[in-house]
Amino acid sequence: MTATSPRRPLIAGNWKLHNTVSASIELAQAVASGAAGAHAEVVVAPVYTALYAVGQALRGTEVALAAQDAFWEPKGAFTGEVSVPLLADVGCRYVILGHSERRQFFAETDESVNRKLGAALSGGLRAIVCVGESLAERDAGQAVSRVDAQVRAGLSGLATEAMRDVVIAYEPIWAIGTGRTASPQDAQEVHAAIRATLTELFGGNVAGQTRILYGGSVNEANAANLLSQPDIDGALVGGASLSAEKFLAIVRAAG
Ligand code: PEP
Repeated sequence: MTATSPRRPLIAGNWKLHNTVSASIELAQAVASGAAGAHAEVVVAPVYTALYAVGQALRGTEVALAAQDAFWEPKGAFTGEVSVPLLADVGCRYVILGHSERRQFFAETDESVNRKLGAALSGGLRAIVCVGESLAERDAGQAVSRVDAQVRAGLSGLATEAMRDVVIAYEPIWAIGTGRTASPQDAQEVHAAIRATLTELFGGNVAGQTRILYGGSVNEANAANLLSQPDIDGALVGGASLSAEKFLAIVRAAG
């Protein structure tokens, strides 16, 4: 992201399986007051049980609400699932799809991500679609080809206009929650490859407007360096998003 980038940076906090309703409200309020007037767009993704309350707490603020996943069917006999219309009903603007923890622990596939993406977009949500290679794939020199395949499969069949509501998050699996971050140069290489894939699929205009976030142990110390790369348009933040102070430092690093 350079000073002349046409893309507004986006900093998203993925709170994962953390925080009661009251702790979530408290964190959301602290983020909202600190993020007022920020250059970056700011998004937080609490646990499902706190979505409604956090949505209420964020009303009238500049911070948008996100869910951490969504099922593709709108309703029916799908015990334990939460659908796009119900997420929109509690105030969600965004949904994270295909997070590597969902791929690893809950059998998420590129095909299910693609179905969920279609449902999210037609239900009026914006989607943050996560992709990223494993350590074995990186060591085998397959990072770019793996991510390219995930992007193609995840976005398969999508209309060009629909891309305006899609954000991609590049999250190397080996960097998530590990304290290991991709170097800004390694991350930039994959981001540029993703943008090239988007150019091929949807044309240069759409590719130039699509935000590609980096995720994987982003913190207040490394954010500025990562965000200074030309194709890194923001961050998807896990651990550091649980502290308003650390998360807001990352928001400020985005300009
Ligand atoms: C994430 O949850 O998407 C993530 C990148 O986590 P962390 O920042 O903790 O590595």
